[in-house]
Parts: sequence; structure tokens; C-alpha cells
Amino acid sequence: MGGITVRKKYRERSLLEFQKEFSTEEACTQHLRKMRWPDGFTCPRCGHNEAWFISTRKILDCKGCRAKVSLTTGTVFHKTRMPLVKWYWLIYHMAMDKVGVSIAEMQRVLDIRDYKTAWLMAHKVRKAMADRDAGYSLAGLVELDESFFGPKGSKRGRGSERKSTVLCAVSIYRNQRGEERPGFAHMQVVDNASTDTIEDFLQRLGYGSTTPEGKRLLETIRTDGWRSYGKAIKDRNLSHCKVVLKDPKTAGKLLPWVHRVISNAKAVIRGSHRGVSEKHLQSYLSEICYRFNRRFWEKELFDRLVKACISTETITYSDLVKTRNTIMN
Ligand SMILES: [Zn+2]
Repeated sequence: MGGITVRKKYRERSLLEFQKEFSTEEACTQHLRKMRWPDGFTCPRCGHNEAWFISTRKILDCKGCRAKVSLTTGTVFHKTRMPLVKWYWLIYHMAMDKVGVSIAEMQRVLDIRDYKTAWLMAHKVRKAMADRDAGYSLAGLVELDESFFGPKGSKRGRGSERKSTVLCAVSIYRNQRGEERPGFAHMQVVDNASTDTIEDFLQRLGYGSTTPEGKRLLETIRTDGWRSYGKAIKDRNLSHCKVVLKDPKTAGKLLPWVHRVISNAKAVIRGSHRGVSEKHLQSYLSEICYRFNRRFWEKELFDRLVKACISTETITYSDLVKTRNTIMN
């Protein structure tokens, strides 16, 4: 009593451990409660910290004021009719499968009647991933490039079969042997690669952010010197950023990590998802970056993703499909 307990926030699990631990709805419910209130429950209404937990209804009943607090309100599981067991298995696979999960496969394995239901569940998890990464800034040296995603043979720019423009940035650090290694990655679907767009992208990556000591976070940007980058950097008076202008043809050698992240993303989208409509491309790219950014915590990924899912509001089917015509993939 009164001592300091050092508790690890996220547990490491193998697949077998996962299967054993989360085979019942009760086990998933108890886990979710612990993830949501790791330091114990506090009533949002009266501040009391004792409650009865009615696990069958996923409700906490405050002993102070008798307020009923739902376990899932304000999370991606809000109002779901799907058992948590199925959610947990989907989350596990989305966290662990490096090449991305196939929704048709998940629908079959989890015995979910509608493809649409499984598809929506996966998109809710992707939203949690994207929201979790949105707060990350890239620091130090950043490789930056653009690429085009879309059906083979389709053209850049406008039209029904258009390719989408994607900006990709990867932060680079040096390991103990002085070799450059990739840190965090960020990809964003944009309308074009104009100077304004690149400036906005840099802003989102943390340009202008400083460390508590007042040091600028983003210091150097390495690009292939392609038109808009140099201008964006000059216009923003990014005096601390040194642009390495090189021949675009040798970009693969000069920007190895950003190119690797892009080609990996293309392989995942072509492979597991069999192509993706332009409207949903950003969600898939966010999912790919989320996993890439956590690749050193592989065994903790499940707990981390559950945490992400309870740290963000859900999204509805109509939110997801409200613009333009949708192809569900
Ligand atoms: Zn209360």
C-alpha cells in the first residue's frame, strides 16, 4: 500500500496467448474496462470512484450517484451490436497482419452475415488509427516525395479513371553505426502537388513546431528537388531546412526510405485490398502508416490499437459514404 507500482501500459501477446485470453465476451469486456479506466473508474457525473460493473450490459453503475456509464460511449464501439469478441479478433488481425487484412476473409472467419458490416467495422478501426497518428509530428531530417496511386494504365489528374496524388514523408535518424534508418512515415492524398498543398502538408507534419527547449522540430527536408518543394520551402522561409537538390531520375537511391514506404503501400493495396477507390484511399494509407510507425512494438500492437479505438469517437456508415458514389473496397 502506498508504494509505487511500475505498470506496463501495453501487454505483449503472441497469437496463441491472444486466442486463449480473448475467447469469451466476458474476457473482452473486462479487458476493455481495464484499458478504458487503467487507474480505476471515476464517475463523470459525481467524481466517485466506485461502481458496480454489469459486464453483461457493459455498464458501470456509480455507487455514489447511481449514474449508468456505458463502457463503449465515446469509443469506436459506440452502439455496436457486434460482440466484442468479433471486434477483438478483427482488431488483432488489423494490428498484426503486415500486408493488411482482407475484409471478405474477416467476414468469413468471424461469421459476420453482411460484407457491409465487416467493411464498416474495419473502417471504424482505421479511423482510430488515423486519429492516433494525426497528433504525431515528424522531426529532424525528413525525406519527402509524391507518388500516384490508381489503376494501371490510368492517367494522372482528372477523369473517372484518374490516379490519386499522394504525398509521402518519412523521418530519418542515424543508428549507432551512423546508418540512416526510417523513423515515422506519413502519407496524404492531395488534389495536386502544388506549392500550397506541399506547404499545408509540411504544416501538418510539424513544420513550425518546436521542442520544449525551443528547438525547431523539422530541420531538414530532403527531396528530389522537384519544382514545388523548393518554392514551398523558400516561401515559408524554412531557413533551417536544407534542400538537397538532385536529379529526379536517381530519386530511388537518394530517397530510399520514402520510396520503400510508397512501394510497400502500393503492394498492400493491390494485394490484400484488390485496389481501393479514391475516396477511401486515405484510410488505407493511414492504416499502413499506423502499422509502419509501430513496427518496433509488434507484440504490443493489439493493446495499443484497442487503446486507439477507445480514444476516439466512432464514425457511421453515412459519414463514410456521404460524398460521391462509393465502391466498397
Ligand atoms: Zn456518480
